[in-house]
Amino acid sequence: MGGSEEQYVKDAFEKNWIAPLGANVDEFENQVSRYTGAEAACAVSSGTGAIHLALDVLGVQRGDVVFCSTLTFVASANPILYMGATPVFIDSEMDSWNMSPAALEKALKFHKMTGRLPKAVIVVNLYGQSARMERIMEICNRYGVPVVEDAAESLGATYRGRASGTFGRIGIFSFNGNKIITTSGGGMIISDDELLVKKALKKATQAKESAIHYQHRTIGYNYRLSNICAGIGRGQMEVLDERIKKKREIFEQYVEGLCDISAVDFMPEIEGSFHTRWLSTLTIDPDKTIISPRDVIRHLSAHNIEARPVWKPMHMQPLFDRCAYFEEAEDHSKYLFENGLCLPSDTKMSEEDVERVIRLFRELLPVGKITA
Ligand SMILES: *Cc1c(COP(=O)(O)O)cnc(C)c1O
Repeated sequence: MGGSEEQYVKDAFEKNWIAPLGANVDEFENQVSRYTGAEAACAVSSGTGAIHLALDVLGVQRGDVVFCSTLTFVASANPILYMGATPVFIDSEMDSWNMSPAALEKALKFHKMTGRLPKAVIVVNLYGQSARMERIMEICNRYGVPVVEDAAESLGATYRGRASGTFGRIGIFSFNGNKIITTSGGGMIISDDELLVKKALKKATQAKESAIHYQHRTIGYNYRLSNICAGIGRGQMEVLDERIKKKREIFEQYVEGLCDISAVDFMPEIEGSFHTRWLSTLTIDPDKTIISPRDVIRHLSAHNIEARPVWKPMHMQPLFDRCAYFEEAEDHSKYLFENGLCLPSDTKMSEEDVERVIRLFRELLPVGKITA
């Protein structure tokens, strides 16, 4: 926590606004709007719920096709199934690790030919970095397909000077406990289309029609954010930039400590992009060493330090094993999964903590015959 969260939560208690509405919810939405430059925002109970609402207000229906980045957390794709739609997965490019514009174009071309253009494309901005959104928007606009930007991991990132999450028709954020800032659980929908956000708000609150009795015309959900959690969010927004600065420092320290190892490639920061380094991630080239990310994870774990592989792509998950997948040329996302590593990146880590991880990583060098 940053410091003032408790005061906002206390405020809610004192005013007895213990409900999924109130001053904290309103102000948290204003803060996120101001920070990102989006016209409108709607606070909800999770990032997953935000994606579900986004697909719903874009009119996705049973049997529709929805494209989604394959290299992501399952929460990006599950809402496609909630809607009874069919996911089609799109490969990553090696530069940004995010959706490959070339693979996207290939998939759109194919689906146009078969007369089944997707109702939406969910573009994920992984580990704190925006996808190549200008290219992606240009392609999707050409085919007339709306983009949902899953910016759950990229709050605070920018691309060509614009906030991550503001390129698509709708952007979503997550404030789950593991994200760069948290409300313990929570999410946000942003858009420049205020009407669309109003629609999402209505759906997030059981789709009540305006009448003094309870009147319903469309399906709704119970997805609004609690005024207590929003209080935490208000305090967290005050320290977001500080968090990003610290995350980037941690990353820089890893780069300094490991960049001489020829088999190590850090996740690139593409031109025009400001990467928050929510997680410090890298790949280990299997052609250059016998040491794999699993070896590093095991070695760190033996010292009570947690590290993780990169997301396992959705097209490799049993849940989606009958879904179509479009790769760029070879399967980049599979390479990133099999050779990718997320290093400990918590903002509470001291320089000594990071140094310790670097030292343990380097202990494996002789074993792996890695050359510096
Ligand atoms: C965390 C995350 C989500 C889901 O957010 P929740 O708030 O946990 O529901 C969606 N997409 C990505 C890429 C995430 O990392």
